[in-house]
Amino acid sequence: MDSRTNPAPVTQIQAIRYARHERRAQDNFIAPVDDHDVPMPLDYYVWAIHRDGEAPVVVDTGFGELAAMARGRTITRPLVQGLRDAGVDPLLVEHVILTHLHYDHAGSLDLFPNAHFHVQESEMAFATGRHMCDRHVRAPFDGEPVAELVKRLYADRVVFHEGDAEFAPGISLRLAPGHTAGLQVVVCQTARGAVVLASDAAHLYANLTRQVPFPIFVDETFYHIAQQRVLNIAGGSLDHVIPGHDPLVLACFPGTNDIARVDLAPHTPIAEALA
Ligand SMILES: [Zn+2]
Ligand SMILES: [Zn+2]
Repeated sequence: MDSRTNPAPVTQIQAIRYARHERRAQDNFIAPVDDHDVPMPLDYYVWAIHRDGEAPVVVDTGFGELAAMARGRTITRPLVQGLRDAGVDPLLVEHVILTHLHYDHAGSLDLFPNAHFHVQESEMAFATGRHMCDRHVRAPFDGEPVAELVKRLYADRVVFHEGDAEFAPGISLRLAPGHTAGLQVVVCQTARGAVVLASDAAHLYANLTRQVPFPIFVDETFYHIAQQRVLNIAGGSLDHVIPGHDPLVLACFPGTNDIARVDLAPHTPIAEALA
C-alpha cells in the first residue's frame, strides 16, 4: 500500500484490559519514591491493531487462570472474551507480535492456532538460554508458554526479527531492550500521528515522567535509553505513548467495557491526569 494515498493505515487500536494487580508505588520503581506507600495498581492489557481490509494484528497474548492463581493476579475478564468483546476473533488472527516473553505478555498462545508469532531473536535466545538458570532472572518468565513458543517454532509459526523492522504498512517494530534482552515496541501510524505501544519499556506513565524504570530489568542503562527512545518516537508527547500496565489508559482514553481506543486522542491529556 502506498502511504501517500493512505496517510493513516492504522484505523483503530484497542487496549483490552484483562487483569489487575493491587500494589503500592514502591513496587513500581527502581529507586525510592516519595509516595512509596500509596496504592499504585497495575492493569494487564493486550492490544489489537486494525487496518482496512486486513485481519487485526494482536500485540501480546496475556496470561490465563493458572498463571493468575500462581502469581496472585486477578483476571478481570478472560482474554478470549475480551478479544471477542473487541470484535476480534482469535481464530482469524494471522499475526501476533510478542513484545517480550514475560509470563504476562506471552501466555495463552493456544488461543491463536492460525497465527504467526513475531519475536525478537535476542528475546527468544535469552528466554531459552543459560540466563534462565538464574532464578531471579527467570522469575517473570514461565516455562510452559516459552516451551509452547518453541513448539510453534518447529511448526513454522515463529517469525524472528533482529532489531528495528517494518512489520506491515503503518506498523513498525523498534527494539527497546533493558527490561528484557529483546523487548520490542510497536509503532502505529494513525490519523493522529505515531502511537507507540510501549509495553514494558514503560509500565506506567510515571516511569517515564520520573525517569525511573520499573524494578525488573536485565540492563538498567539500556532501560533508561529505551524509555527515552519511546518518548522520542512519540515526539515527546505522553498522549502518544501507551504504557504496558497503566490504569490511566482506561481512565483517559475513549472507550467502554475495559477496552480503550488509543488510536484516538485521550479525553483527558495524560500530563493533566498525572498532575
Ligand atoms: Zn515484562
Ligand atoms: Zn508486563
